[in-house]
Formats: sequence, structure tokens, C-alpha cells
Amino acid sequence: MYDVVIIGAGVTGCCIARELSRYQLNACVVEKGDDVASGTSKANSGVIHSGFDAKPGSLMAKLNVEGNALLWKLAEELDFPVKKNGALVVATDEEEIKHLELLLDQARQNGVPGVRILTREEVMKMEPNLTDKTVAALYAPTGGVIDPFNLAIAMGENANVNGMEFRFETEVLQIHKKGEKYALETNHGTIETKCVVNAAGVYADKFHNMVSEEKIHITARKGEYLLFDKTVGDLFTASVFPVPGKMGKGILIAPTVHGNLYVGPTANDVEDKESINTTQDILQLLTEKAKANHLSKKVIPMNKVITSFAGLRAHQDKHDFIVQEVPDAECFFDAAGIESPGLTSSPAIGAMMAKMVSEKLNLKKKEKFVSTRKGVLKPEKLTDEERNQLIKKNPAYGNIICRCEMVTEGEIVDAIHRPLGAKSMDSIKRRTRAGMGRCQAGFCTPRTMEVLSRELGIGMTEITKKGGGSQLVVGKTKEL
Ligand SMILES: Cc1cc2nc3c(=O)[nH]c(=O)nc-3n(C[C@H](O)[C@H](O)[C@H](O)COP(=O)(O)OP(=O)(O)OC[C@H]3O[C@@H](n4cnc5c(N)ncnc54)[C@H](O)[C@@H]3O)c2cc1C
Repeated sequence: MYDVVIIGAGVTGCCIARELSRYQLNACVVEKGDDVASGTSKANSGVIHSGFDAKPGSLMAKLNVEGNALLWKLAEELDFPVKKNGALVVATDEEEIKHLELLLDQARQNGVPGVRILTREEVMKMEPNLTDKTVAALYAPTGGVIDPFNLAIAMGENANVNGMEFRFETEVLQIHKKGEKYALETNHGTIETKCVVNAAGVYADKFHNMVSEEKIHITARKGEYLLFDKTVGDLFTASVFPVPGKMGKGILIAPTVHGNLYVGPTANDVEDKESINTTQDILQLLTEKAKANHLSKKVIPMNKVITSFAGLRAHQDKHDFIVQEVPDAECFFDAAGIESPGLTSSPAIGAMMAKMVSEKLNLKKKEKFVSTRKGVLKPEKLTDEERNQLIKKNPAYGNIICRCEMVTEGEIVDAIHRPLGAKSMDSIKRRTRAGMGRCQAGFCTPRTMEVLSRELGIGMTEITKKGGGSQLVVGKTKEL
């Protein structure tokens, strides 16, 4: 029997796992996907929010500001990419300036450092490509951008190194309370545990409602995006937001931490919690935003779109995070309603949950906790001389597999053999960026498959896009 089972290996589950792995316990993370970050944590804006947007006094506001502060240090400890590029909320008429003042007041109440309102002249100097309609902007210097997959991967790997077990492709179907313990029925048998941590994203209401009479409700709120090539990634330095609306922060235009640009996300409530397809109407709307004077005075060329994608916000009816031991279900803990700024808040959610669970179970800290980890080695970050040395030692670092993102065979092999190693094409992509570039895996797919096949000792027909039945090829077309 486990002390703790965490449902969900999204960024929330991985951060909780990492913080709990500081303690002496027998615990595991159960995830229905084949990898960490296979739900909402793989499809979002990747913005490190500073915390001016959340309602003062809410748990969301508190954890956002704490999470922001934690992330910068964590990025050094666990070696994942972040950039403090600042955030701007752009007002395009006098009425919207009143909204900036409101946000400024919220920022002060939430304890967000350095937020101020810039005049048109000041902000145009900072971002010359902003729309001509700009009249003022709120500036938050602690805003940033992050690689969302690699935050979850880093936290998960580090938790695993510290003894946390991960069970992938294991779907929790039902939860029963049996005396002092919980029994989790899964597609791979029953798992028993003293404590459950529910970090199931858009499905967190389903698990909460299995054990509690006080029901919660989570709506999947879809956000769609257009992602542009790196050649237009320097349009803005900061993440540029419109004044927020009823459904959220609005459609922003922002650079990613890797230098791409995106326009999005939209916000539409959907019934189907698996609905991560993009839709013609919404992409048309995003195209209009990219072309018209939405936030940029420059037209963003459509031939630079490299892909579109969508993610689902776990919108809880009261629009706040629920991080609690469920009052009428002892030892059942929720991390529910973790919508934006959930990515930013995740390290703080992890710390808060670990404190609650460790106090409940009276857990003792481990004497030896490994607090650091190195990400996949990127030869492009080395000097020419260092790179030559590396290639001499291991020629796989001289073999480019993904030409768009300049990913080498050495990086792919590293991604496969590290803790929680990659087993599918998507898991290689998230760890190395192979397939994330301009050609969207057109060139590197067969070459990456060959490396996966060789390193895992499996046939090409067994290789999947993302586990389950997502095989890429069914057999040979020609036998020589
Ligand atoms: C469009 C959009 C934009 C966003 N932008 C930002 C942003 O810029 N900055 C920011 O801070 N936040 C942002 N967010 C919010 C952030 O992405 C989420 O808060 C965060 O990813 C939630 O992580 P999670 O681990 O709680 O959920 P998820 O990542 O969804 O993880 C839940 C996991 O549970 C698993 N699971 C579900 N059911 C089961 C089951 N039955 N058995 C086993 N496993 C199960 C799922 O497979 C999944 O992997 C955005 C969200 C969206 C949708």
C-alpha cells in the first residue's frame, strides 16, 4: 500500500510529487497519458504571470505571486528555460486606462513588485511595433516566459530521482474509501493508498465528487492558438496583453521562451473534456487579429504560421484554485480548478500541498534529497571548441536529426535514457524540440523513429506518437 497516490502528471502533479519526494514515504504518480505534461500542461501560453490579474485575497493571487518568485530559482536548480521579458497590458482608449488603474491597484494588493503604468511615449519606446492605437500600458517587470513541458519534466524527473514512482498509461476509473484507505480502480488493477492527491486537471471535479458530498464543477474552457516561425519572433520583447475581459486575459501576442511568436488564446467553454482540436472559425478569428491592428501595428504574415494548437483551462465555477484536504473525505486532497495562472503557481501549489500531506501523515524529511538536475545537453549552447570536444567524445552530437531546431542524435539518445525517459515521438519532441520547428517534423520523423527503435529495441511499427494506439506506421510499403 502506498502512503500517497497523486492522480495526474501534469505540471501540478509533478510539482506536488517533487515537493513530496523530500519526505520519507512510499508514493506514486498515476497518469493516463504515456508521459508527464500530456494534458493542459502541454498546451498553454507559457507565460510566467506576475500576479496583477488575480482577484486580491484569492488563493490564486497568493500562489501566483509565490510561484513566480519560486520559478526563477527553480530554473537554475533544475535547468529548464525561462526568460524574464516582462508583461504589458495595452490600453487602446481612455476607458481602458481606467482598467489599467484597477489592475495596478490589484497588483499592489497582491504584492506584485515593480508594476507601473507607462505613457504612450514610454511604452512605444519599449515596444515600437505596438499598435498605433496604444494610449498607455501597464508594465509588470516580473512577467516572464517558460518552457511549460520542461518545467513538468524537470519536476517529474527530480521527483523520480528522489524515489517517486510514476505509473504511465494507467487510468484511474473509480475511487472507493475502504476503512482507513482508498482503493483506486485503474485499467491495470487496484491501487491502495492512505492518501490521494487529486491533480487531474479538467477531470479533478470527477474524482472530488466520487468522495465528497460537497460537489464541485469544472468547465473545460478551450483556448486556441496560432504559432509562428522564429523569423517573426522578435516582433515584441514583452508578452503583450489586451485589457482583460469576462472570459480571461484576452488574446495576446507574445514571444515564446524559444523565440517563436504566438497569437492566442481564445476562450470558449466546451462540453467535451478531450476536445483539443482547433476549429476553422477560431483560427479565422486569430488570423484577423494577426492581420489587423489588434496589438501590433505590423501585419504578422500568415505564411509564417507553423502550426495551430488548443488547450483546455480547468475553469472552476468560483474561479479560484482549490488546494485543500476535502472537508468530508479525510486524507483526500484536491489540487482542483488549476486554470491560468496554474503553470506559474505550480511550484507554490506543490509546496502548499506537500506541507498539508506531510503534516497529515506526520512525514519526516529525507536526509539526502537531490535538489538539482541537469536538462538534456544542448550542443548549440556550447562554444565551438567545447562542441568539437563533445563530438570527438560522442559522434552522435555531430549528427543533426532535426534541421529546423538543430537537434542532434546525442540529445535524442539522452532524452530516451534519462529518468522518466522518452518512449514516444511527442515525448522526444517535448524534451529536445525535435519536430517543433518550421517543418513540424516533416524531415526528422523517420530519423527520430530510427533512433527510438534502436535505443528501445522495438520495431518501427511499435513506435507511437503518444502511447496507446497511436502507432505511426503499420508496415513496409516495399520489401527490397
Ligand atoms: C489556453 C491556456 C493558456 C494558459 N496559459 C497559461 C499561462 O500563460 N501561464 C500560466 O501560468 N498558466 C497558464 N495556463 C494554465 C496552465 O496551463 C494550467 O493551470 C496547468 O497546466 C494545469 O496543470 P495540471 O497539472 O493541473 O493539469 P493537466 O496538465 O491537465 O494535468 C492533469 C493530468 O491528469 C491526467 N488525468 C486525468 N484524468 C486521469 C485519470 N482518470 N487517470 C490518470 N490520469 C488522469 C491527465 O492525463 C493530465 O496529464 C493556461 C491554460 C490554458 C488552457
